[in-house]
Amino acid sequence: MRLHFTKNLDARRETMIREHLLGRDIHDPMVIRAMREVPREAFVPEEMFELAYEDYPLPIGEEQTISQPYMVAYMTQALELSSTDRALEIGTGSGYAAAVLSRIAAAVYTVERLHSLAETARLRLELLGYDNILVHEGDGTLGWPDHAPYDAIVVTASAPQVPKPLLEQLAVRGRLVIPVGPTTFLQTLVRVRRLGEDEFRTEELCGVRFVPLIGAEGW
Ligand code: SAH
Repeated sequence: MRLHFTKNLDARRETMIREHLLGRDIHDPMVIRAMREVPREAFVPEEMFELAYEDYPLPIGEEQTISQPYMVAYMTQALELSSTDRALEIGTGSGYAAAVLSRIAAAVYTVERLHSLAETARLRLELLGYDNILVHEGDGTLGWPDHAPYDAIVVTASAPQVPKPLLEQLAVRGRLVIPVGPTTFLQTLVRVRRLGEDEFRTEELCGVRFVPLIGAEGW
């Protein structure tokens, strides 16, 4: 029975990759491989595992959501990760995006402000055997200075503006991807590149809709 379910989910994961990722603009082979390796069903509420490979966000409790697979792939691709990169994620949520990042980057540091989500994600990632991810409970708008600088930073909640501490903790040549804009409406996903100590370049990528980033440098 279990095998049957697993097989079924493997087929759905392949369909997701073909239709929602390759069928759109996800072409980085490392991102496709990472999306293939991480079992999204292990990150959604148990009663929703049948929906794990549908291309939409799902509730994970505390009024938060696991992002849609396409958006996780899109943001990961936008980070232009290499295998020696150290990445910081703000907004651990279920831990799914951290798991995807960890299949490409050397190490992933992820920060979640809600205790129950941070605890669940930490346990889940440990049980699944991801050993290059560290989960920290705290206000991610302040980054995680202990492990800075980061080659890549991704924020999976929307901010009123790019938090300064994140710019400070970005390595020179690093990339920061973050949704910026009004709380409940459409936001803009932007990528900031740090070109030099005091030189940053910002690009607008696309329109997105995320839950709010709440904290000292957020809402
Ligand atoms: N990346 C997640 C999706 C998370 S949704 C996944 O793959 O499942 C956004 C998350 O950001 C929520 O869990 C929310 O609690 C968290 N969040 C909001 N403001 C935050 C802050 N200041 N610091 C850290 N996490 C924050």
